[in-house]
Amino acid sequence: MKRFDQKVCIVTGGSRGIGEAIVRRLVTEGATVYATYNSNKERAEAIAQELRGNGGVVTFMQVDVSDENQVKGLIDAVVAETKRIDVLVNNAGITKDGLLMRMSEQDWDSVMDTNLKSVFFTTKSVMRQMMSQRSGRIINITSVVGITGNAGQANYTASKAGLIGFTKSVAKELASRNILVNCIAPGYIATEMTDKLTEEQRNEFLKVIPLKRPALPEEVAASVAFFVSDDASYITGQTLCVDGGMVM
Ligand code: NDP
Repeated sequence: MKRFDQKVCIVTGGSRGIGEAIVRRLVTEGATVYATYNSNKERAEAIAQELRGNGGVVTFMQVDVSDENQVKGLIDAVVAETKRIDVLVNNAGITKDGLLMRMSEQDWDSVMDTNLKSVFFTTKSVMRQMMSQRSGRIINITSVVGITGNAGQANYTASKAGLIGFTKSVAKELASRNILVNCIAPGYIATEMTDKLTEEQRNEFLKVIPLKRPALPEEVAASVAFFVSDDASYITGQTLCVDGGMVM
């Protein structure tokens, strides 16, 4: 018997980085996982094949989370197949960095749509099922820069701060149905997203991290597993920073 046997989990953006580590962790602990990717089909299929080879239960679906119809299609398909949804992890996210002076409306909109509006779509789509079950866990991956701000990321930080406010409001709305909604705020995690940083930006980050290293995606996945577990049964509306002490 594994800890997450019987749990049906949806993870957005599971084809690489933090999302991939979350998918791997939940599947390894016995969950049935439906994960999404946007364009990286080959990578998603390779992960699924490997996990299934080890006895895991995982399905990847191509879903653009900023498209309401595609999100609804995903949730309907999962409910039709499993008749339940225990966990939603809103992980998919993008950056389109630049100083505000030069930021285009398109770069603002695409970041807000992918990082924030998507979570409105996914949460609204799963809540009916979770309400009827009278249980559920929703975990939103925000960022420490949604708390601190960051020059060159006005669009990204607005989307991530928005997620924190959204999480608190929805936690209040859904608490009476035993649906717990929390955020995880990673600091500097070694993924393709942060591969884009310049040497200088990387060093600036390391200077303000007391633990003096970036985190592995698996270290974020471990805190997701905590929020999924029974150990987190009395926690809702919170933001847990997984940041090596960057924000305290
Ligand atoms: P990556 O860039 O490595 O991966 C992003 C994932 O999101 C991919 O699976 C990608 O799919 C998916 N995705 C992107 N756009 C869409 C879309 N429109 N619809 C569906 N899926 C989409 O990111 P990270 O793993 O680094 O980040 C994951 C989350 O953690 C993000 O929300 C990010 O903001 C947050 N975060 C990351 C930090 C870091 O240091 N890395 C720090 C703080 C927060 P595909 O592979 O198909 O493109």
